[in-house]
Amino acid sequence: MIAVLKHGTTPDQVSHLVGWLKRMNLDVHVSEGQEITVLGLIGDTSRVDMDLLKSLEIVETVKRVSEPFKQANRKFHPKDTIIQIGDVRIGGGYFVMIAGPCSVESEEQIIEVARSVKESGAHILRGGAFKPRTSPYAFQGMKGEGIRLLELAKQETGLPIITEIMNINDLPLFENVDVIQVGARNMQNFDLLKELGKTRVPILLKRGLANTLQELLMSAEYIMSEGNEQVILCERGIRTFETYTRNTLDLSAVSALHELSHLPVVVDPSHATGKAKLVPPMAVAAAASGADGIMIEVHNNPACALCDGAQSLTPAQFDDLNHRVQRVREAIL
Ligand code: PEP
Ligand code: MN
Repeated sequence: MIAVLKHGTTPDQVSHLVGWLKRMNLDVHVSEGQEITVLGLIGDTSRVDMDLLKSLEIVETVKRVSEPFKQANRKFHPKDTIIQIGDVRIGGGYFVMIAGPCSVESEEQIIEVARSVKESGAHILRGGAFKPRTSPYAFQGMKGEGIRLLELAKQETGLPIITEIMNINDLPLFENVDVIQVGARNMQNFDLLKELGKTRVPILLKRGLANTLQELLMSAEYIMSEGNEQVILCERGIRTFETYTRNTLDLSAVSALHELSHLPVVVDPSHATGKAKLVPPMAVAAAASGADGIMIEVHNNPACALCDGAQSLTPAQFDDLNHRVQRVREAIL
């Protein structure tokens, strides 16, 4: 981090500021020019309040030259992180297809979908048990019973399971869950992130509806700073002025996140578009962009789905999509 001081700052003021910064465990490199003085702050500057520093009377500008996220940062960890989920690996060239319904609705539904997506080549089964719905009157998920049914589907098919947590008090119910999802709405629920950081379960962290990539990486940092390094980032569309699609899929996020971080990146074209017709082309595009995985909502009867039917593919549509994604993967290798 670099702080440029205002013209006319006295040596006393400089040493006062330098002393304050040093008390934050930083090394300060002072460079005095004819006109201005520049301070180079060396060390862990993630704790420095940039706005506070900027607001000081003698400070002209402050610029970060290193990102505030450390553990998620590729600069400090150049090799791709590979996360092991049962027999499945993700990241560093390993690609996973995650598929399943938005919500677990019944034993028949989840078992039927699990069998069919497995047959088509999916590696992980998804299904929401705790649902973050915009309306309190909408179906809220089967909760603990939903997780039990996912476990049953796991026993039946051997597929590892991923499901969303909304409240840390529910964590004991997630004992047999292979990947815990943090949904877009909870991306900045910092207490939840910190508690998940104390577990050793892989976490799929979805980008918030209106969050920047740096904010997503800072949220990953919350989990990692507590000791859980198994974080998978997920681009699921962001809110823009466009209303034709549910969200706007930011595919440049895949390359940008790969540049900034060593963590695997998954794309969810279902929530990004909200329209089943747009899901296959965006899944293919996500594969072409180098994503480490794709998450697709699949329902055995989308017209009757209790949640997100409009964006859900039938098992046959998923089968077709999966073949196309595999062909793209082979083409870009
Ligand atoms: C989901 O995956 O079911 C979900 C609720 O997604 P998001 O948090 O991205 O809206
Ligand atoms: Mn959904």
